[in-house]
Amino acid sequence: MTKVFDSDRAAGFGTQAIHAGQRPEPLAGAIMTPVYMTSTYVQDALGENKGYEYARGKNPTREALERNVAILEGGSHGFAFASGVGATDTIMKFLKSGDHVVCGENVYGGTFRLFDRVLTSFGLTFSFVDTRDPQRISDAVTSATRMIWIETPTNPLMRLTDIKASAEIARKAGALLVCDNTFASPFFQRPLALGADLVMHSTTKYLNGHSDMIGGMVVTNRDDLAERLQFLLNSGGAVPGPMDCFLALRGTKTLHLRMPRHAENAMACARWLAKRWGEERVIYPGLESHPQHALAKCQMSGFGGMLSVEMGSKANAKHVLDRMKVFSLAESLGGVESLISHPASMTHGSVPAERKVAMGLTDGLIRLSCGVEDIEDLIADLDQAFIGL
Ligand SMILES: *Cc1c(COP(=O)(O)O)cnc(C)c1O
Repeated sequence: MTKVFDSDRAAGFGTQAIHAGQRPEPLAGAIMTPVYMTSTYVQDALGENKGYEYARGKNPTREALERNVAILEGGSHGFAFASGVGATDTIMKFLKSGDHVVCGENVYGGTFRLFDRVLTSFGLTFSFVDTRDPQRISDAVTSATRMIWIETPTNPLMRLTDIKASAEIARKAGALLVCDNTFASPFFQRPLALGADLVMHSTTKYLNGHSDMIGGMVVTNRDDLAERLQFLLNSGGAVPGPMDCFLALRGTKTLHLRMPRHAENAMACARWLAKRWGEERVIYPGLESHPQHALAKCQMSGFGGMLSVEMGSKANAKHVLDRMKVFSLAESLGGVESLISHPASMTHGSVPAERKVAMGLTDGLIRLSCGVEDIEDLIADLDQAFIGL
């Protein structure tokens, strides 16, 4: 179990992003955490070791990343995983057959797939509800509810859930509140401070920020949950390799530089799109026209780099997707480069058609992950792609 250094808590976010959890390596004083490419550790004598026995349980490169992200989230324990869904899968092992989960209806497609198509066979039951309204969360709670799973803002409809209100409902129900904080990153949103028990991340996205690895992370403030998570992590074994941890750690050092630029570029694209295509068709929490703009201002310190646009038809969506040049057509998000995607057929391809309709995820929806390029080039790219519409 990786506990943070208390001395790291005092610094500002940028200083923490660069230094938290990092110490010069003792042999040569290397400023960067070495990539500990090892499966096992030599023991000094029978029953005597340096705290490391086998690398599924612990790896120093992984621990450096875990401490760093734990501090950025305002938590005391971090756990790195081989992927975001690996992290989710491990969190779900807090539950047992017969337990019930209230989950946002518009969560990441892979989260929905794991819950609906895998974990239901293990006796877990789920209620997928529109968590924009906290009342719907409380209405879905039963005597068997042990977990409330929220993602805010959601992918790709950019819907928000009130974290504080959800935490209150979870507390009353005796359930854990888990918040997928992938879209906002800890730079813009700190769910633990708002009452969440566990924060989950796909580090593949903003935390790493360079689209060159797959990883997940869980952070908590609770010692009891941390102890169990370490056990579950070691038992399930969905651990990341040290090279991927090194890459993610390199990424988090610039999180505070990248996030404001992502958000600035997203805001500029959103404003351009609102003017060119109609305010009601652009979904970005930073726009005053977003129905939950007030909540965004209250629980986030910025609006992130993701936005979606309702093109009205698949043909219109295709028109734009086929013409974009700086924005690449690809799944994933959160990297320095701008990406554009068609959620209905790409990231949310595994969500049943009737569910997509029910939550408003149409064939005309496109999703933009605004990178950190020059804004003039992103706007020019949109401008030429919209010609003919
Ligand atoms: C990508 C993503 C995940 C899954 O993470 P992987 O690293 O791809 O396994 C979970 N939640 C959100 C919001 C994501 O964007």
